[in-house]
Amino acid sequence: MALSVVDLYKSVLPRTNCRDCGFATCLAFAGKVVSEQYPLKNCPHIPPEVLVASEAELAEQYAKGLWLRRDLSADALRWAKERAASLNPVDLAARLAGEIVEGVGGQELRLPYFTGFLRIEGTEIRREDGGELGRYEQVFILNHLAQGGWRRPTGIWKGFIEFDNTVSKAVTMQKAVEAPLAVRFAGKTGELRQRAEAVGATELALTGGTAQISLLLVPLPRIPVALLFWDGGGDFPAQAKLMFD
Ligand code: SF4
Repeated sequence: MALSVVDLYKSVLPRTNCRDCGFATCLAFAGKVVSEQYPLKNCPHIPPEVLVASEAELAEQYAKGLWLRRDLSADALRWAKERAASLNPVDLAARLAGEIVEGVGGQELRLPYFTGFLRIEGTEIRREDGGELGRYEQVFILNHLAQGGWRRPTGIWKGFIEFDNTVSKAVTMQKAVEAPLAVRFAGKTGELRQRAEAVGATELALTGGTAQISLLLVPLPRIPVALLFWDGGGDFPAQAKLMFD
């Protein structure tokens, strides 16, 4: 039997809206699982036997394409690969602060990525530790190959909205990244710090900053990102902000 959003919400999820999955409500989480194949196990409160049975039902309906939203990430990745197809990653080592190493099929570009390394050959990218790379992560990396690394960080932080032609991207950043981060970690700043440190974040000293948490992340060489977090309180909701150098 297929699981609709309502089935999942009513029969599988605990309906406590605890936000441990990163969504504000169980219903929002259910919608993401059914239409975008978001992992059901990201709700840590489902009994193991219910989780196994539900995952099997979901796998069947995903295979039939039932209720699935068109996967825009596949289109984005195809486009990014086409754009980067003429680049030879080993020519980019100096610009991107990577190194050239011998791989199984020839030379590869080895690039630091958070706390680990990427191996890039043509437009194929893999993590050196064998971990999974999401499609949008690959798009981000391919775009970086195509046009990143030309400028050195200046120490001047800016919000996304301050860059040229980024109004729609700033709205997307707010809706898809900053707002979910604020919801997920409201009242849980210790966990936020712990999770960020696990991907290499370090303390960031900002003059005059009011954020309770200011952390520096370096996903790729010369790409520093500041994560600022205000935990709110009273009538003020938590807020998260990403800043770029
Ligand atoms: S983790 Fe998400 S889906 Fe699970 S109970 Fe909490 S809010 Fe609901």
